[in-house]
Amino acid sequence: MTILENQSELLDRLEAMSPEEMLTWAHTNHGDRAGIITSFQDTGTVMVDMSRRCAPGLRVITIDTLRLHPETYELMDAIEKRYGITVERFQPDPERLQKMVAQHGEFLFFDSKPKQEFCCKIRKVEPNERALASLDVWITGLRRDQSAARKVTPRASWIDRNGRALLKLAPLADWSEEQVRQYVKKHDLPYNTLYDKGYSSIGCVICSTPTLPLEDKRAGRWRWFNHTGEGDKECGIHIGGSGI
Ligand code: SF4
Repeated sequence: MTILENQSELLDRLEAMSPEEMLTWAHTNHGDRAGIITSFQDTGTVMVDMSRRCAPGLRVITIDTLRLHPETYELMDAIEKRYGITVERFQPDPERLQKMVAQHGEFLFFDSKPKQEFCCKIRKVEPNERALASLDVWITGLRRDQSAARKVTPRASWIDRNGRALLKLAPLADWSEEQVRQYVKKHDLPYNTLYDKGYSSIGCVICSTPTLPLEDKRAGRWRWFNHTGEGDKECGIHIGGSGI
């Protein structure tokens, strides 16, 4: 059997696993080279909760853009306390951040789509790339019902990251928002209280806003681009980002 066949067979095996089996497999086979990267939206919190029972040592990582909502920082603290863990916080490079703000201002994301993507690159994508460099298995909370762009999210896939093959797992890709909500309720998990204020997707302050019931779950992201034809709702972490 060739390496390619082996890799494809592994994906088939992973696709057939339950979320708990996937998390256990990642930790058992890859130890500290596997980790959940989460922004502590409910899907991420569900995975953290599952992992504490089936794979207690699995790393929990977050990208702290330094512009998150106070409610998100409070939730991180609550998660650390509840599970007795330390969430690894990857932050923007201070020099690059300072340079960006000096050149373009703190609120450059209002100016144009390329500047928003540049801000996301400095505050999110680069710290995320640093986190990924420490991993062989990237576990994410992507779900197919989060947006049109995420409809075909596989539960297991090989991706190329700077010439290196990385296994990307989305154990809850096929869960609905309702399933996630029910899990949170049943297990009495801490959650981001911004959900109670109408948010359905939570990122940085200003750039994420509440959504209306019939809107796409990510419509509240960079809302000022919704009517410009530049409504792409990805920050570059899950696709290639642009730089200026
Ligand atoms: S979401 Fe907004 S503040 Fe956060 S990194 Fe992206 S553009 Fe910058």
